[in-house]
Amino acid sequence: MRETSRARSGERVKPEKAPEAATLLAWYDVSARVLPWRTRGGAKPDPYRVWLSEIMLQQTRVETVLPYFAKFLARWPDIEALANARQEEVLSAWAGLGYYARARNLHVCAKAVVAEFGGHFPEDEAELRRLPGIGAYTSAAISAIAFGKKATPVDGNIERVMSRLSAVEEKLPAARKTLARLAAEMTPAHRAGDFAQALMDLGATICTPKKPACAICPWLDSCAARIRGDQETFPRKAQKAEGKLRKGAAFVVLREDNRILLRTRPSAGLLASMTEVPGSQWSAEYKEKDALKFAPRSGAKGEGQFAWRKLPGLVRHVFTHFPLELTVYAAAAPKQTRAPEDMRFVPLGALDSEALPSVMRKVIAHALEFTDQRKQKRRRK
Ligand code: SF4
Repeated sequence: MRETSRARSGERVKPEKAPEAATLLAWYDVSARVLPWRTRGGAKPDPYRVWLSEIMLQQTRVETVLPYFAKFLARWPDIEALANARQEEVLSAWAGLGYYARARNLHVCAKAVVAEFGGHFPEDEAELRRLPGIGAYTSAAISAIAFGKKATPVDGNIERVMSRLSAVEEKLPAARKTLARLAAEMTPAHRAGDFAQALMDLGATICTPKKPACAICPWLDSCAARIRGDQETFPRKAQKAEGKLRKGAAFVVLREDNRILLRTRPSAGLLASMTEVPGSQWSAEYKEKDALKFAPRSGAKGEGQFAWRKLPGLVRHVFTHFPLELTVYAAAAPKQTRAPEDMRFVPLGALDSEALPSVMRKVIAHALEFTDQRKQKRRRK
């Protein structure tokens, strides 16, 4: 209670002692999460594994990444193997992990490391940053974790810890520089990689956005926000505008030999080179009365109409910059139907090897649900 009223009164509270890197490292030595890209007992980490994990972890939770990391490592155990893979194979193995530009950059980056650096990642942050898909955070993470260089990756978790430790009133995103500086000032020259990973673990497991477990935090006594009692209110954030809702139509053609009509998206832009069912543009101005103008036509030359049925409900998906609502239309086609130009019929059993983004998996699942319901009704009659 005493602490909460301090926060309410806006009183500036300075912890008696400053947070020290050594305290966090001692905690990390006994509490580090065991993760397949990490090493123990001072062993040298494999830069390929560190890089692969850091790319997969961008905007993605550890639990989601673990099976993908295992799959990639089993299939492409080193950078040369990944560089020699075909792009479609990499996109297909990535399907479901989201943010597909990462998969394309991963592949281009593997090729660049092999071609320009003989298969060895550069150790320096600035050189790493010149590689595709490696930005400020990832270059610092690889440099510190894989090579022990004094670098400080700062992601949302670490920003939260820093903002609470020093009770930073400046609002995000403007506060980013301040928070990065605070983290850099604390980074030790020795064990910089462990310090970065310790901060990541602290942010992910103890200093969580809601209900941080301050009682077991190694920096309990040196955290300004904890002493004020309003730690959950940090980091301060400026209000951000939500992306405008976009709408569109998706067309699912199911041939009677259980094949579905698919096509490949253009090689640039959102979900580039991924697989999709045919559909309209996704736009805030989309009008449902125009939906069928975007429907594919049957036959290789697109001469005939499919008999479209609008399915009940909508498929909703949220991209980073906008939410999307798709109306799904379905049509059944006889076995001999040929795919329109630039499209293909793919067996339903082979969808796992297609680079289908999550939104398209939702569309197909939605259509199949209604197809199954129809079949069951027919059987009951
Ligand atoms: S004391 Fe609480 S708020 Fe402060 S760093 Fe630790 S977990 Fe976060």
